[in-house]
Amino acid sequence: MRTIKLKKDPLKLLNDVLKHLKASPELGIFKCVQCGMCSSVCPAAKRTDYDPKEMLGRVLQDDETVVDDDTIWYCFSCYTCNSVCPSGNNACEVNQILRQMAIDKGDVQRIESFTPYGDSFMKKGIGTIPEKYYEDMVSDSGPECMNIKMDIQNIRSSLGLGNYILPDDAVNEIDLILKNSGFMERIEMIKGCKK
Ligand code: SF4
Ligand code: SF4
Repeated sequence: MRTIKLKKDPLKLLNDVLKHLKASPELGIFKCVQCGMCSSVCPAAKRTDYDPKEMLGRVLQDDETVVDDDTIWYCFSCYTCNSVCPSGNNACEVNQILRQMAIDKGDVQRIESFTPYGDSFMKKGIGTIPEKYYEDMVSDSGPECMNIKMDIQNIRSSLGLGNYILPDDAVNEIDLILKNSGFMERIEMIKGCKK
């Protein structure tokens, strides 16, 4: 007879996810009925192997391999799944928690290239496209996009809009939020992992 060895903590993954979920567990994850409505509207599921229903099923079964699964990186956080779920569940939020777990394990190669956006928030208080992506931008959208970027201040003035650069006191406040929320530390940790 085959003996099944139980894990030390058979609900470790599920409990870890629950710890980080902002919505009450009463509302969502335990009430997932695996109906697949989230998958039927998920744009990522239409184009890739990612499937929010399957991802949630694996979390509910405490399948820790889901954290290492490439497909969790295909969700692009549109929250459409959340808007249709009959149980008030939020597949998107669960997915974001799994990604943070993957990052904690040092799986940073997929997001390292986004750290310049984080730097921009820290320096200017807003997310601007890092210079290293200008070439890609031109190749995707044509050279006009750079003209608009370079002339943005004049375009804004002609529309009666003010300066888009935030004043120092606003940048300092945002800086404080990023520091106290752990955002800065997280960005530095991701950069450190890549070395
Ligand atoms: S998360 Fe909601 S929509 Fe998706 S399978 Fe579960 S109950 Fe259905
Ligand atoms: S948030 Fe992610 S899982 Fe939900 S519908 Fe959008 S792409 Fe799919």
